[in-house]
Amino acid sequence: MRILITEDENDLADSLAQGLRQQGYAADIAYDGEEALVLVEVNTYDLVILDLNLPKIDGMEVCRRIRDSGAPTSILMLTARTSLSDRINGLDQGADDYLVKPFHFSELLARVRALLRREVKAGHPILRIGDLVLDSNALKGFFRGTEIPFTVKEFAVLEYLMRNAGRIVSQEELLEHVWDEQVNLFTHTIKVHIKNIRKKLDAVGGCGLLSTVKGRGYSL
Ligand code: CA
Repeated sequence: MRILITEDENDLADSLAQGLRQQGYAADIAYDGEEALVLVEVNTYDLVILDLNLPKIDGMEVCRRIRDSGAPTSILMLTARTSLSDRINGLDQGADDYLVKPFHFSELLARVRALLRREVKAGHPILRIGDLVLDSNALKGFFRGTEIPFTVKEFAVLEYLMRNAGRIVSQEELLEHVWDEQVNLFTHTIKVHIKNIRKKLDAVGGCGLLSTVKGRGYSL
């Protein structure tokens, strides 16, 4: 899942990005409203975390323009404690949820997870395909009850494939949703991750679960 953090306080933006990456999300940062709109136009985000108080174009206007553009992203607004009217306004402008500053990272994470589940219309945090089970809250994968030691990135790839099970997911789509702008754009990265996931699945008896459709992508 790919997230855009729009926040002009550099330290906060950077630590949010770092925290989200540790959870396996792809995270880009926009430090002002103008940059946010450009990035939303170029990339496909599953979620935009949007501070209200931004240089150049303020958060409320950014929210309105993202909604006008029809980009199918969820929006989580960050607001100051005092401003009830901002919160109401934000929801009216199309934000899906808001979080009051200052907040604890674990609460942000819980809201991010909830919004992303809503977005993919797969309301449950536990994903299951046959004997393969992913717990997207705990970031743990199991096959017939045996835990599989996935890295967070492998987990993110597998989670995306599971949420889209039954259809072919292309390399481009995986890159778009699971990697951020820090990625080395050689799709080699994806191949390596898929190979490692497959190796780990094979090791616990889950052979053949993850198939490669030549020239088109991957499918679970
Ligand atoms: Ca701000």
